[in-house]
Amino acid sequence: MTTKDSMELWVKEIYQETFNLGFKIDRTLFSGKSRFQQIDVVKTKSHGVMLLNDGSIMLSERDEFIYHEMIAHVPLFVHPSPERVLVIGGGDGGTVREVLKHPKVKRVVMVEIDDMVIQACRIHLPAVSCALDDERLEIRIQDGIKYITEAGEKFDLVIVDSTDPIGPAVPLFDKPFYKGISAALDSDGILITQAGSTFYDGETQHAMLMNQRPFFKNLHLYLYSNLTYPGGLWSFGFASKGLCPIQDFDGRRVESSGIVTSYYNPGVHRSAFSLPNFVAENLASVIDPILV
Ligand code: SAM
Repeated sequence: MTTKDSMELWVKEIYQETFNLGFKIDRTLFSGKSRFQQIDVVKTKSHGVMLLNDGSIMLSERDEFIYHEMIAHVPLFVHPSPERVLVIGGGDGGTVREVLKHPKVKRVVMVEIDDMVIQACRIHLPAVSCALDDERLEIRIQDGIKYITEAGEKFDLVIVDSTDPIGPAVPLFDKPFYKGISAALDSDGILITQAGSTFYDGETQHAMLMNQRPFFKNLHLYLYSNLTYPGGLWSFGFASKGLCPIQDFDGRRVESSGIVTSYYNPGVHRSAFSLPNFVAENLASVIDPILV
């Protein structure tokens, strides 16, 4: 939501009805209501352009590279031959921008439910949406659940770049969706999921991983820091049919790739899977140990 404080305009993300995170707004660039959600793009005083869906911060220009590099490069440097990638959500284009940096990737399908997100980001966030016209990318405006149920295409990697489990994203955290993704993944397949805050979303993380458990051999959580999501230390789920994010990772591949990143590197990759005790204890019954 945006609010006026003594004639100043602020983004005020109220999180779990208990606290808020604020950013001072310079001006509003876009405001629209789609069939699915309220979409706002604002220019902040400190974090560049910011995208909000239903008042929740999706990204800021200043730190989006952290989220998008970590959601994409971690699995792409673990999978030995990632050619076919499915992105569910991710309409701002940041995830596909990073995925398409990998020359091995031959085909990407991005299934975003809300065309208004894509159009707003094309205009107001060009540095994020810059790869949306890549010829390897097919964009489908469709519900990710419907796509997974009907598509019948196989992928090496599925990335669920969704909002938190609210509105149309709720079923993206449920068992039938993960069952469908497992069927769509080839034998070395990896699934990456947006897994929320380590501090505030422990229950959601546990429930999400429990719902994935029946369909994947290896389940892990990995961490990244960011400036615009409440609590700062956030996470992704890493689910695979067998690949281990550490044993099957060779940092030399990153170095020889020539791919330019601002956050991700081999050391960050490895350390992201080291969980603080409170996170590891909460998830002990659902995640797998990493044997090194
Ligand atoms: N990094 C972001 C975050 O966690 O705040 C996520 C960004 S991305 C903009 C999330 C996208 O998922 C939104 O554009 C939303 O429209 C899309 N989405 C939500 N539910 C979906 C569904 N069922 N199928 C496809 N896309 C969905």
